[in-house]
Amino acid sequence: MPLDFLKRRGGGQAARPGMAAQPDPTRVASAVLPEEAVAQEHQLRLSFSGKSSEGVRMSGGRAAMAELPGMLSGLARSDVEVVEPLPLEYSQATPTIVRPSEAMQWLNAHHAQSPITRHALLVLESIDGLDMAFDTFVCTLLEGEVDTSGYPEYNAIVGGVAAHWDEATGDMIARAVVGWGGRGARGDTDRLGAKILGGLLTNILSSPNALGLTSVVRPAQAIGQGGVACGHCGFASAHERAFYCPKCGMRLARA
Ligand SMILES: [Zn+2]
Repeated sequence: MPLDFLKRRGGGQAARPGMAAQPDPTRVASAVLPEEAVAQEHQLRLSFSGKSSEGVRMSGGRAAMAELPGMLSGLARSDVEVVEPLPLEYSQATPTIVRPSEAMQWLNAHHAQSPITRHALLVLESIDGLDMAFDTFVCTLLEGEVDTSGYPEYNAIVGGVAAHWDEATGDMIARAVVGWGGRGARGDTDRLGAKILGGLLTNILSSPNALGLTSVVRPAQAIGQGGVACGHCGFASAHERAFYCPKCGMRLARA
């Protein structure tokens, strides 16, 4: 392809050998400089929303972790998927495509998950509803439809239960979390989301391990090079200040 735009610069640029130097009659009109550029507008409005409940303190240690998928019973409209906290090697994972290193980590960590779970992670991580450095997330489609590729429509509600280990007591704290969004919005989605969140919280509180509502104090943001590897399950936490293994909940032994 010849670089036609070079020809518009009148006289300043020498024409390349072989290229026609005569003015192109189709461009004569553009030689007049307009006072204002005629703009075509381009815009995309993406909207992600979500809700999370208060936390529920759970007894039972690891046994409580096994109860999490059952808390979606009666509400799940697709298979329930369990997403475990990310190990140290994915500590920078972020679903932001213009940051290739972070995006590659995110894709490597989540490419095997279902389209529903990946959509839920994109929405909920983008709005800070989840932090996969310490959350365990059980996820499903809760309302609405998926497209022919299996990805939720913008008005579909996804989510489930997220749980982490309380750094003060070592108890598991479970909370309901729902999200939706994309290229559009519908007026009743917020109300539906609140209703589903209530149903999820009821299910969490119905667990035999539930001790009652508690305010959610999330562990401090993971920074630096990460902490110690768990002596019980071998998980290398991205949290250098974690007292409890994000994956198995056992106390981390420190050197
Ligand atoms: Zn562990």
